[in-house]
Amino acid sequence: MALFRTKKAVLTAATAVMALALSACGGSSGGGGGSSASAAPYQVATNVSLTGSPTFDKIKSAGKVTIGVKQDQPGLGFKDAATGEYSGFDIEIAKWMAASLGYGADKIDYKAIPSANRESAIQNGDVNFYIGTYSITDKRKQLVDFAGPYFVTGQGLLVKKSNTAINSEKDLAGKTVCSATGSTPIQNIKANFPQTKTTEFDTYSQCVEALKNGQADAVTTDQAILLGYAAQEPDALKVVGQPFTTEKYGIGVPKGDTALRKFFNDKLTSGKDTWQKIYDSTLGKSGTKVEQPAVDNY
Ligand code: GLU
Repeated sequence: MALFRTKKAVLTAATAVMALALSACGGSSGGGGGSSASAAPYQVATNVSLTGSPTFDKIKSAGKVTIGVKQDQPGLGFKDAATGEYSGFDIEIAKWMAASLGYGADKIDYKAIPSANRESAIQNGDVNFYIGTYSITDKRKQLVDFAGPYFVTGQGLLVKKSNTAINSEKDLAGKTVCSATGSTPIQNIKANFPQTKTTEFDTYSQCVEALKNGQADAVTTDQAILLGYAAQEPDALKVVGQPFTTEKYGIGVPKGDTALRKFFNDKLTSGKDTWQKIYDSTLGKSGTKVEQPAVDNY
């Protein structure tokens, strides 16, 4: 009975991440950018009434929605160099939210914004909102607001396949770890791993280069991101250890735009089937089922 219950238990995000790791080991195309087909044709809403949202007013007068994203994170937010098309879990969430506001895929402008520039891009109005592995934190909440969370993952480690010295975060003393400027993982390393050296770049793909050319011993960021890189180069890279923080991804919106934040929260809450389709067609390609996290940032 107990066994039966265990088997039926809902998998946590961490378990899913491990399943993705297995799929990465198996050389699956996993998060490799691959197909840019949408998870679902999202219903483009008509006559959306969203009173009291300055952001929605701006979107309406522009006739399009500008969404801040990542472009170098396969499986999450990835721009195909050849076609210019964006794909991944975050991109699908972005398409879904845009459609809910009344804007189809042809009315979305994606703007790639690196981790350190997200708050300023939202504050300056360079983007209407931001969807790109953006952890909800109290510090960021002083500058922007968040809807969500719409996904939960945790900080992990990517090393060269040949590396036998680093098997978890416990092995980082004396090592050089690379992460993105302004990210929660680099802040965690600086604050809690005093014997670890850091090197940082604007983006994680630059860190992956630094890892491959020996400038860094490991790349650290959310496991969901690292698994995408490992899946692209399974013979060269591997994810090690278990997630050692909790990262809750939110949709970053301009501070004070409560109407828009609540609108997104309502869509996420009432759209569980859509969320599941998006997950299954992107991060969940390994076949592992994960449930949508509860939206608690009302
Ligand atoms: N989720 C973490 C953060 O928001 C790391 C990933 C990223 O930099 O986008 O800082």
